[in-house]
Amino acid sequence: MEHAFDAEFDRPREECGIFGVFSPQSEAARLAFFGLFALQHRGQESAGIAVSDGSRVRMYKDMGLVSQVFDEEILATLPGHMAIGHNRYSTTGSSVKRNAQPVSCTSMTGDIAVAHNGNLINAQQIRAELEAQGEIFDTTNDSEVIAKLLSRTFKEDIGEAIRSVMELIQGAYSVVVLTPKQIAAFRDPNGIRPLSIGRLEDGWCVASETCAFNPVGAEFFRELQPGEIAVITESRPRILKPKTAQRPAMCMFEFIYFARPDSKMYGTRLHVVRERMGEELAREHPVEADCVMPVPDTGIPGAIGFSRVSGLPYAEGLIKSRYIHRTFIQPDQRMREMGVRLKLTPLEEHIRGKRIVLVDDSIVRATTTKQLVKMMYEVGAQEVHVRITAPPIRHPCFYGIDMARREELAAAKFSVDEIRERIGAASLGYLSVEGAVKAVGSPKDTFCLACFTGEYPIPIPEDVQKDMFERPKVGAFATVRTGQGSLDFSNELQPR
Ligand code: SF4
Repeated sequence: MEHAFDAEFDRPREECGIFGVFSPQSEAARLAFFGLFALQHRGQESAGIAVSDGSRVRMYKDMGLVSQVFDEEILATLPGHMAIGHNRYSTTGSSVKRNAQPVSCTSMTGDIAVAHNGNLINAQQIRAELEAQGEIFDTTNDSEVIAKLLSRTFKEDIGEAIRSVMELIQGAYSVVVLTPKQIAAFRDPNGIRPLSIGRLEDGWCVASETCAFNPVGAEFFRELQPGEIAVITESRPRILKPKTAQRPAMCMFEFIYFARPDSKMYGTRLHVVRERMGEELAREHPVEADCVMPVPDTGIPGAIGFSRVSGLPYAEGLIKSRYIHRTFIQPDQRMREMGVRLKLTPLEEHIRGKRIVLVDDSIVRATTTKQLVKMMYEVGAQEVHVRITAPPIRHPCFYGIDMARREELAAAKFSVDEIRERIGAASLGYLSVEGAVKAVGSPKDTFCLACFTGEYPIPIPEDVQKDMFERPKVGAFATVRTGQGSLDFSNELQPR
């Protein structure tokens, strides 16, 4: 199957959504389907579900959106009351079915399936060691490293097996595991990627985001804390606490852009957080203008907040195609050059003659912002003032987010005023790191802010950085994928 046309252009991209469910009175595969459906924004490349009926693990996965991969016929082949599922991030370049998740392995105690969101920074090293000991890998992703390690250590207690694996792996990981008799979930000691537990009438579920709970009839129970392991059988989840405490470092970009606005993280609804980011932005970068417009959809709450504090009226001036994510047809070169027009159409009547504050959530390479500003001037905007509800991105992400290589990051190369000039805006203002932290309402030292500050909560080995920067660059329209930079073990040109 061709890969989904990447409609988000110049955006950081999430690297996967995971879901797990234990529900004795349900068809777990059906619940996993709807859980993954709610997490579709975290990955559109492939989808997979593994189930167990208490004795045997079965699995189905393929390339495509959740609704393209699964139908009634396939769900009927996945009986059982326990399931885990995975959505993988979509790119425009090469991508293969064998890298779809969950990944499975055989242990002495039966089959194990694993679904992972994040990026291990020492996966290559562990893989080399395992290969030297005779292990054969079927995939080129780091999740199989976790599965192989678990299959070697799992005898009776999956919680203890996970604990010993966590002593070996480093990086960002939120993981769900399925064995024939239980599901388990665990989070890296810094809690970089999110993971929450939900309560069902007859059981439990876990998900990357709380937005997956409502569709399956679950109530939010609690976030899995950094370093915690939850083993879920029939009764209450058994929580294993981390042996050593490390500072929490949740990815700030989950709050700014990645996660769905109806999800909650650190106890706060993200739509509300993003409104507050817009409010802070208006305080930090006020401007005389006629109205505030969002870049839909993710700029909407920020524009609402900006409007509230500035007193400028909120107006819609860009209409987003609702279906662009769903096409698997690649645009031709001429269409690629048109870029943002494939996704957004300007409302000339709302733009002509106006001084506009255009609110967006991030600038990576600045290519999209430049096209947007140009498009608004073409339909008669008098002034376009760009306001961004994120700080400037100056450093790459090694923890599972696809962003860009350092040399492609606009803010790594240029000053704010140089970027303003390049995008053709009348003015440009970014939210400060302090403003972003204040908007969430948790202490600064509970976040990963590395792509803004360069201070990585988990030190990045030099060979990982080197590997990332020496990788060949894929086409300008394609994604350059840094999130799994150290993890593509094959020689194929992987979009990263
Ligand atoms: S470096 Fe940036 S994108 Fe990556 S985990 Fe940290 S805050 Fe998130």
